[in-house]
Amino acid sequence: MGADPAAAPRIFIVSGPGGVGKGTIVNALVERDPRLWLSRSWTTREQRQGERDTAYVFTDRESFERRIAADGFLEWTNFLGNYYGTPTPDPVMGRDVVLEIEVDGARQVKSLHPEAILIFVLPPSRDEQERRLRGRGDAPDKVSQRLQKALDEEPVGMAIANHVVINDDLERTVCEMMEIIGRHRGAA
Ligand code: ADP
Ligand code: 5GP
Repeated sequence: MGADPAAAPRIFIVSGPGGVGKGTIVNALVERDPRLWLSRSWTTREQRQGERDTAYVFTDRESFERRIAADGFLEWTNFLGNYYGTPTPDPVMGRDVVLEIEVDGARQVKSLHPEAILIFVLPPSRDEQERRLRGRGDAPDKVSQRLQKALDEEPVGMAIANHVVINDDLERTVCEMMEIIGRHRGAA
């Protein structure tokens, strides 16, 4: 059966602690599956060295707060001192929405859209998460903040997730996520 272009888009939320590989995974997913539409978040954090200009809409607090006041976000949160938010999505008809967000945002989206599918990604170990954060070039204080934050995020995320995936080998993880997405499409 072909996709019904008039059907409401599915929402796939990819969440998990910092440095686990969410951004890397969702980029691979949207490259392989043209039916996925990746939402671009707004943030007030500074762009990292080497980070793509398109990773976020990088903005200032005033503009972010103006957009909150105009009800322009599906969800937003304050994560380690910076705002992050998903602009109200406007996907192309027939495509499914992918949100790559932290746990508080995932919780908000799940309460607004209980049918949204939350895939929560875990690192193979805390040491490996730390290696990935350092390897990405995060400053030492950012690394320890994200590792500390993960201890609070993981139990909450696992409790509300539809699926929990361990990002050990990237290719294996991406294949597992594609399979999960395919199963949900098949079930609709
Ligand atoms: P997040 O978006 O969850 O904060 P990133 O996608 O920025 O994480 O990934 C953090 C770092 O880990 C990046 O340097 C990325 O290339 C690397 N990475 C992602 N997945 C894997 C994996 N399965 N094995 C090894 N390194 C990985
Ligand atoms: P980073 O600074 O590492 O890019 O992102 C910090 C955390 O914020 C990550 O867990 C990332 O997934 C999350 N994040 C990115 N965009 C959004 C968003 O729009 N909303 C929420 N709630 N979290 C986001």
